[in-house]
Amino acid sequence: MTLPDSIRVLERGWLSSNNIVFLDDDGASVVDSGYVTHLDDTIRLIDDAREGRPLVRIVNTHIHSDHAGGNAGLKALHGCEVWIPPGEAELVDSWDEDRLSYRRTSQQCPRFSYDRLIHPRDTLRLGGEDWTVLPAAGHDHAMVMLWCERLGILLSADALWQKGFGVIFPELAGIPGFEKQKATLDLIGTLKPRLVIPGHGAPFTDVAASLQAAHSRIDWFIAEPRRNSDNALKVLLAFKLLEARRLTLADLTDMVRASIEGNVAMQAHYPHDPEAMAAFMAQELVRAGAATREGDAVIASR
Ligand SMILES: [Zn+2]
Repeated sequence: MTLPDSIRVLERGWLSSNNIVFLDDDGASVVDSGYVTHLDDTIRLIDDAREGRPLVRIVNTHIHSDHAGGNAGLKALHGCEVWIPPGEAELVDSWDEDRLSYRRTSQQCPRFSYDRLIHPRDTLRLGGEDWTVLPAAGHDHAMVMLWCERLGILLSADALWQKGFGVIFPELAGIPGFEKQKATLDLIGTLKPRLVIPGHGAPFTDVAASLQAAHSRIDWFIAEPRRNSDNALKVLLAFKLLEARRLTLADLTDMVRASIEGNVAMQAHYPHDPEAMAAFMAQELVRAGAATREGDAVIASR
């Protein structure tokens, strides 16, 4: 199916989430704002997409650094509003670095303020269509999706990608997440979307196949929760490597230590020393083709 002209999907590479631009007569809105180090690209891409309309609002599906990293910069430039789901509003108000995800994940997100909360079941008018805000617990219990019944289009954020879904972060902190992710997948199944626009990667129409694979994956995590910790560590280190381009074993060790300290599940899964875990992860990054080895450092290979 082709997208209406009032919806533009800016598909981004690693570090940044996709930006979905909606065009209305009175201005443009963007869902998710990418990672802070990509802000210049984000500004330019949105400028092209908005075709002279003012950018009036940013809507965040959730406030992870790769989805909300452009909020502060775009707001400063355009004076646009920022709308976020209610789940983490208090943390944003107080910018509680200990409880926001950024420090724990060794990622950056400039402080921003919000103007409105979007609650599950709210209806947002974007691109001339009605979009229902739906809960999407699992990857982040505060995350929401946007659903347009009339078009059969779902903005799934990190709840469903063509292949997989985001790390189930709550489980790392000892908060149940796997069953919530299953419920979110079930909810998507009942919607029967004709098209899913994910938070990362290209929009896709074979939603049933993606859902089936996602269900298998979550069951695989449930069978052995350590797999979720392994996956999280791999994703976080690969993300940092792409940002920094070069990480020493000492850098990796610091990150592993921060992850273990901040997450009770990792404390249980990795009782041994962080240095050995960092060395193992360096090998894994090289094995996966994400890095090459250079002395005591790993270098990003893409
Ligand atoms: Zn996320």
